[in-house]
Amino acid sequence: MSLLDMFLVRATVAAIEPLTPRMRRIRVIGDSLRGVDWQPGQHVRVRVDDVRLRSYSIWDFSGGGQLDLCVFDHPRAGPGARWSRHVRAEQPVAFTRPTGRLVLRNHAPYHLFVGDETAAAAFGAMLRALPTDARAQAIIEIGSPADRLPLPRPRDLQWTHRAKTGGIVAALRELDLPSEPGVAYVAGEARDCQAIRRHLIVERGWAHSCVIVKPFWTSGKRGLD
Ligand SMILES: Cc1cc2nc3c(=O)[nH]c(=O)nc-3n(C[C@H](O)[C@H](O)[C@H](O)COP(=O)(O)OP(=O)(O)OC[C@H]3O[C@@H](n4cnc5c(N)ncnc54)[C@H](O)[C@@H]3O)c2cc1C
Repeated sequence: MSLLDMFLVRATVAAIEPLTPRMRRIRVIGDSLRGVDWQPGQHVRVRVDDVRLRSYSIWDFSGGGQLDLCVFDHPRAGPGARWSRHVRAEQPVAFTRPTGRLVLRNHAPYHLFVGDETAAAAFGAMLRALPTDARAQAIIEIGSPADRLPLPRPRDLQWTHRAKTGGIVAALRELDLPSEPGVAYVAGEARDCQAIRRHLIVERGWAHSCVIVKPFWTSGKRGLD
């Protein structure tokens, strides 16, 4: 047993269900999940084959030992996407404890979520955890209308279609935001994350500390985390 094995949480895949044609919800259950700490927006690193780990945000986590991940089946499927295609109910699964800084800043005057299909999983958990009177806006870039995850609606949830727009920054530039900065949660493709961050800081004058960025993947790189 490797050192890593000693730290992994062990559970069982309970069900796999498509939430969209390209996004599978993988439900994991196990007594070992009871009492595990979690904040909405955090992720686990799943052992997807003998040697590799891939990070997946927690879509939902019930205290009763059940955890849901959402895995996007992208066209250049590496070990992570392949795992989501082939994994079956009753198979064992091992992963690290929930971690990550992409979590709600509850003091924020309002919350802005910007990202792509992969980020929508983390955003879903975060949106569900917001108090009902919290102000929130979201802008999510997707490949086609079928890629919309069932997200709880903030006041303003906008889906932009990759092929039809000038990119997510162009869509964000059009977004009517309050004059004072809120807190932005930015995730998804790494170069888009940088451009979104630059837009908020340079063009909108937000402080660095108001923009929380977590790149999830980028073209040509494997397992970014
Ligand atoms: C903190 C964190 C949380 C994450 N949460 C999620 C999540 O909830 N759901 C989820 O699906 N992914 C999530 N990801 C991304 C995930 O970890 C993997 O990077 C992704 O599944 C690709 O892994 P892979 O093994 O299939 O491909 P890799 O072997 O990593 O990459 C193979 C090729 O595919 C390309 N590629 C990877 N992703 C995409 C994509 N989305 N679209 C187009 N091309 C792509 C790569 O650039 C590379 O060229 C998260 C990543 C991080 C760091």
